[in-house]
Amino acid sequence: MFDKKEYNKQWRQENKEYQKQWRQKNKDKIKLISKRYHDKNREKILVYHKRYYYQNKDKISQYHKQWHQKNKKKRAIQSYLYYKKNKKRIALYYRLYQQKYGKQIYNRRKDILKKYRIKNKEKVKLWLSQWRKKNRNYIKEYNKKYRQKNRKRLLKQKPIWDKLYYQKNKVKIRLCQNLFYQKNKDFLNKRRRESVKNNPLIRIRNKMYTQKRRLLMRKAGKLTIKTIQRVYENNIKRYGTLTCYLCLNPIKFGNDHLEHKIPLTRGGTNEYRNLAPACPHCNNSKWKKTEKEYRKEMKLYERERAVRSYP
Ligand SMILES: [Zn+2]
Repeated sequence: MFDKKEYNKQWRQENKEYQKQWRQKNKDKIKLISKRYHDKNREKILVYHKRYYYQNKDKISQYHKQWHQKNKKKRAIQSYLYYKKNKKRIALYYRLYQQKYGKQIYNRRKDILKKYRIKNKEKVKLWLSQWRKKNRNYIKEYNKKYRQKNRKRLLKQKPIWDKLYYQKNKVKIRLCQNLFYQKNKDFLNKRRRESVKNNPLIRIRNKMYTQKRRLLMRKAGKLTIKTIQRVYENNIKRYGTLTCYLCLNPIKFGNDHLEHKIPLTRGGTNEYRNLAPACPHCNNSKWKKTEKEYRKEMKLYERERAVRSYP
């Protein structure tokens, strides 16, 4: 039997050159016919295209990728030439686009970045630290320039920022300060003593402070040796050795402070009930707080106390 399809296929393969010539000869005619056909069956063709695309998605994308890699140079040259030719038009289009959608794009990008940062927290941290190490000098110069430019504004806002930062990182800051003090104890104490020696203002302030304290003591009643003895004896009876009544750490003998549970400045007295031995750290950090207020704060610094090792 005669198979028409098979015959056509064979004929096409055998006469490839002839077909090419014929197509080149009748270029315009073919174009016209195809255009007419497209205009007539536009929707049908679109549907067909879409269907084909969805069926062969992976194949098409792979083909595109391969083509791009092959023709990288050619494409770059082409796009550069196109840009050079239509520079003004592109700039105008871009400006209009920015005006219309700039804010939307900015916000969307911000959201995406934020999500990414939350998801890949450690990755971003590592990347940032590496970047900072690499561009240390650049960052220094940039910060310098920025500070010079916005000096007035920064000076205005600094106290507010400092306060907020302190409130947020209270525990951390206290811990850092404490560790720094423990490391540089001798140097800091020496510097302080010298500054007191050389600065008359500080000496006057200290004198005023002692006078004030004397006045307060007079108001609070006489502090007798008997009551002090009673306070210490009862403390030792209760804890076994001399112990700070606030942090419950044992106190070295000679390093003890007699503490007022309600401070003298707030109406406390020198009576037995208002007195207790405390370690120097607790006494100094309690200062003008009452016992209740200090205990509330102590809960905040539990972690800090675990690191600190006082005798
Ligand atoms: Zn203590």
